[in-house]
Amino acid sequence: MKIPALVWLMLGILLTVVSYYLGDEFVLFFYAGLLIIALGVFKLILSYVFSPKETIIEKKAVQQKDHYSKCRHCNNITRKIDYYCSMCGKQLR
Ligand SMILES: [Zn+2]
Repeated sequence: MKIPALVWLMLGILLTVVSYYLGDEFVLFFYAGLLIIALGVFKLILSYVFSPKETIIEKKAVQQKDHYSKCRHCNNITRKIDYYCSMCGKQLR
């Protein structure tokens, strides 16, 4: 199950505010709320840092697929614009 970072943030804020008004007996919940807020912020940062990179890598992989193919004689990776394989010298198209 994947819980969005914003849900963690809201839950943490709610817990912190509620336990703050409930008083000293709920100080543990107050700190738990702060911890959940920290977790939410951490998750937000993680998703912010990692998601753009992943899409760039995916785009690159797609681009490489578009421009490269394999020689059917020796399995060497060739460019689609190549007419002859650079490895075995056989005709590609
Ligand atoms: Zn070849």
